[in-house]
Amino acid sequence: MAGGNAIRGSRVGAGPMGEAERGEAAPRRRLPFWCAHGHETRIAFADEADVPELWDCPRCGLPAGQDQTNPPPAPRNEPYKTHLAYVRERRTDADGDALLEEALTRLRARRGA
Ligand SMILES: [Zn+2]
Repeated sequence: MAGGNAIRGSRVGAGPMGEAERGEAAPRRRLPFWCAHGHETRIAFADEADVPELWDCPRCGLPAGQDQTNPPPAPRNEPYKTHLAYVRERRTDADGDALLEEALTRLRARRGA
């Protein structure tokens, strides 16, 4: 019963020329990325593709990394960062996170425009 499927499956990865050109047959890996907000994003990469160290979180725009326990910090080259860093020194972390959300929302709105 399962014999037919097993034979088919073994042929997909080791098929003759032509299969890879269609893209669909290329083997893929799904790798999780986590941003500083804890959003998990799973990105599918072709097996031969270079996997980037960072991936922009589609939900909040922060860079996301593959280490869930140590996500990358917010980018330092954003124009609001100086002000944000200044504000964060004077506030609790919770307030800082709220401000970060706010800043990111504004940034996203600007990018989308
Ligand atoms: Zn996120």
